[in-house]
Amino acid sequence: MEPVDLVIRARYVITMSNPMIIEDGAVAIDNGLIKAVGRASEVLSRYRGEEVINRDRHVLMPGLIDAHTHTQQVLLRSFINDEKLALPPIWTKLLVPFEDLLTDDLAYLSSLVSVVAMAKNGVTYFIEAGAPKPRELIRAINEVGIRGVVTPSTFNVRGNEVVDAGEVVRRVEELLPEVSDRVRVWCSIRQIMMVTEDLLLRLKDLCLGRGLGITYHLGEYQGEVDHTLAKYGARPLEVFDRLGLTLIRPTVIAHAVYLSSRERAIVRDRGLGIAWCPTVDSLIMGQHWLPMFNDTLFGFGSDGGAFTGLDLLHEVKVARAVGKALTVSMTYDKSSFNSITMLRALTGWGGLLVGDSVGVINEGFKADLITLRLDDVRALPIYDPVESVISILNGHSINDVLVGGGFVVRDGKLIGVDEGELIEKLYDVIPEIHEKLNNIVR
Ligand SMILES: [Zn+2]
Repeated sequence: MEPVDLVIRARYVITMSNPMIIEDGAVAIDNGLIKAVGRASEVLSRYRGEEVINRDRHVLMPGLIDAHTHTQQVLLRSFINDEKLALPPIWTKLLVPFEDLLTDDLAYLSSLVSVVAMAKNGVTYFIEAGAPKPRELIRAINEVGIRGVVTPSTFNVRGNEVVDAGEVVRRVEELLPEVSDRVRVWCSIRQIMMVTEDLLLRLKDLCLGRGLGITYHLGEYQGEVDHTLAKYGARPLEVFDRLGLTLIRPTVIAHAVYLSSRERAIVRDRGLGIAWCPTVDSLIMGQHWLPMFNDTLFGFGSDGGAFTGLDLLHEVKVARAVGKALTVSMTYDKSSFNSITMLRALTGWGGLLVGDSVGVINEGFKADLITLRLDDVRALPIYDPVESVISILNGHSINDVLVGGGFVVRDGKLIGVDEGELIEKLYDVIPEIHEKLNNIVR
């Protein structure tokens, strides 16, 4: 028998490969990578785990990928009511001014709260949209142990104020020595309306020159489209395409709700990814077109903890409901936009979305895995584990989270961080934050 670090046996293994579901399956893990997957009897007869764990009333599947989040906005949680949602627009009136007020300590606390919450909800990989204090986020990632794409909040135009593009690009370059097994560094763009053309070209050169991915907010509201039509004579993604930014891989475009058919063709033909944020897109932007087309690489985003519980298994249920509402009302097709597609979006299409070997339980892939508890009247009965994950289970179902074969959450308990201490710290700072928030909207 071949020795390996760990063997996990589970009632169901969802592989995201062929076969999709293995009943009474097992996964052998060695050196952070998946060594083998199959029926438990076969795997256990070939591999001797230094540790063997049984999850006989659980689903084992690849970890979830949050394709769009704002880790340093979580301290806004529950502050955004209907009135604030209607601010024109909420990001320039509340979100960005709030980020300006973050001290290093608050940015670190916010990052830690977000990363811990994501980990507990089964997220093993996330894409930050642009952190005002990226080093504080890197600290939190290294403590909790999930993987994160880090990028500094990137813009150089605000009102009449224009910052030198070189200075903004240097903020990304300075982070590159922090790249590790857990930390990736990408470029980002806050909004096409908040950047000069010079900055766009420099970001493109940096990404293509250093092999970095990019993520940006785009197609968020009509004012943005009108702005670029007036300034560049083209729609937002057409501008990016003309400037060569669409050559960057991976590219993850957040929201992209307002795309013309020509822009959708750019997304499809260039193989760009879209981060659909089902809750926030529905609340602020309206119905997403994604469920109508089967030709788009996409993932799900929470858009940060200010609006949501950072629970992608909740987001997928919102997506399923609003997606079906669209396909049923437009074409009376109830079977399109199916659960397997949604599961692929949750796990990143075998790593294509983030450009990494994750999201599939197959030999050679990184052992970023989660288990979900089925021993719960809120979950039972289970006939088809894929339908259970998409329709019934949520973040509270997460039992274990492994990244690179190591436990981040084990049997519901967080490993790297003392959660009780974190909660006490939050109670201490809430009054101070509340006062700051009231001053912004006053
Ligand atoms: Zn965002």
